[in-house]
Amino acid sequence: MVYMQSYNVLRNMRSIGQPVDITREQMARLTHRSKRISRPQIQFNHNGPAAVNYGAIGSTIGHELTHGFDDSGNLKNWFTEKATERFDEKANCFIQQYSSEYVPEVDMNLNGRNTLGENIADNGGLRESFRAFQTYVKTYGEPQRLPYVSQYTPQQLYFLSYASTKCSLIRQLALKANIYSGSHSPNKYRVNVPLSNFQPFSDAFNCKSNSPMNRKDKCILW
Ligand SMILES: [Zn+2]
Repeated sequence: MVYMQSYNVLRNMRSIGQPVDITREQMARLTHRSKRISRPQIQFNHNGPAAVNYGAIGSTIGHELTHGFDDSGNLKNWFTEKATERFDEKANCFIQQYSSEYVPEVDMNLNGRNTLGENIADNGGLRESFRAFQTYVKTYGEPQRLPYVSQYTPQQLYFLSYASTKCSLIRQLALKANIYSGSHSPNKYRVNVPLSNFQPFSDAFNCKSNSPMNRKDKCILW
């Protein structure tokens, strides 16, 4: 079973840094479109390793839950004035941070205002699911490393799995349209920005402080 679990992880991890197999990607997309999952990766495997499931479906569930507490999540405003002030301050950090991300392929900056709710949900979902994974580790013990991908710790696998759910290709025109009017940041930034805001990611991969994936000025809301 452990070997079977390793297979999918291995197949995804082996493709890191390799040229993209367009046919395989497209076939995977077609297969999954019918399930209304527009990503080539499977988000949940009943028998899959916990790190991989928490990183994928766990962070997606966290993302959706966080929408209840994003900039438009409150149907009724139950925040105190002070809490609203703090919320706006922290939300503003995300607006500034995402808006200062430069996308060289299209010579544009992201629009941190249009994408605020989704960015809050991305960052929150990642953090909430990692906390749940830590609780899992505390309860059941540190998961064993998987054969063939034993160079990765369970924590590293969690983050690789998170990133793999957003793995995609995008043409320049679509990228431009995404930045102009999309409510989500382009996938690359949905991965890199939340991870660079999250200290446990830097700890897992030993990212030097004040480096691109371990930024000094981290934005944290939930
Ligand atoms: Zn969302």
